[in-house]
Amino acid sequence: MSQKARILLIYTGGTIGMSKDFETGALKAFNFNKLLQKIPELKQLDCAIETYSFEDPIDSSNMNPEQWYNIAAVIEDNYTSFDGFVVLHGSDTMSYSASALSFMLENLAKPVVFTGSQLPIGDLRTDAKENLITAIQIASLLEVGRPVISEVCLYFEYKLYRGNRTTKINAEHFRAFTSPNYPELVESGVHLKLNPVLFLPLVGNAAFKVHKKMDTNVAIIKMFPGMSEAVLSAILSIKNLKGIVLETYGSGNAPTEDWFLTLMRKAILDGLHIINVTQCSGGSVNMGQYETSTVLKEIGVISGKDITTEAAITKLMYLLGHDIAPTNFKAVFETSLRGEISL
Ligand code: ASP
Repeated sequence: MSQKARILLIYTGGTIGMSKDFETGALKAFNFNKLLQKIPELKQLDCAIETYSFEDPIDSSNMNPEQWYNIAAVIEDNYTSFDGFVVLHGSDTMSYSASALSFMLENLAKPVVFTGSQLPIGDLRTDAKENLITAIQIASLLEVGRPVISEVCLYFEYKLYRGNRTTKINAEHFRAFTSPNYPELVESGVHLKLNPVLFLPLVGNAAFKVHKKMDTNVAIIKMFPGMSEAVLSAILSIKNLKGIVLETYGSGNAPTEDWFLTLMRKAILDGLHIINVTQCSGGSVNMGQYETSTVLKEIGVISGKDITTEAAITKLMYLLGHDIAPTNFKAVFETSLRGEISL
């Protein structure tokens, strides 16, 4: 007889478990037990589900590294007792959290599936039920007693994506996420269509490890025509700033004006790590392809290649939380740690 998968459902908050405040009409998180009462279908699933709720469920706009650590700690404490984890999370910052957790959980041998919904579970037209039920089904997939998927993923509207490849693209559509530079791992239709060649390989016997330090001395700067020297210079002179994700144009291009390159050069010489990511929704940075990125490459700007901004900023926090020698930082950042960049 095949063994039933054991799943831990972790509720952090988000629309999925919200209801309307009678006085203000605004959506806010409510009690998790009510959430389960609203989905009796969960009992029909062929797995054993246990639940863990954050004491104070949040709108994911209030997510931060401390909360990421709390999610990681719940997974760590329950790691050996479960075959998979489903994290219910608001969609607004879900891609940041899935990216952060992918770095914080090293040698993960089990699935951690983030999901949520655009409409509360109690709403007649809710997308929550399908998202939740299929996320649990996917997290329960076992093959000869071992989880089929062993990475941090995000399930939304019939697709399972690698979490650190996703970005939220729509505030209204049920198809709220996309993974511009990496195909979906699983597509849900009449059957679950798995693409195992795209999964991260199994980790072997390496021990599971949770990293707790994320350094928040970071910033994201989005380039725009007309950005002034005063603005950029003010940001770069923030005390203790250790790294920035610079969202550039196209394949990693930026102005060639003297003031801009002088500020960049000085910041790097002062020890700041600058990551070049594209503000396009798909494609890759390729410094040197145009004259407008050649100097960036020469002065030591780090290439984010085809990483998302969400994965770049959380990878930066994660790597800054480790004592990586400054001379190695660029090489480590440009390496794929959890499948977040294509090499
Ligand atoms: N504001 C909500 C949140 O991110 C939106 C959602 O859950 O989809 O928590």
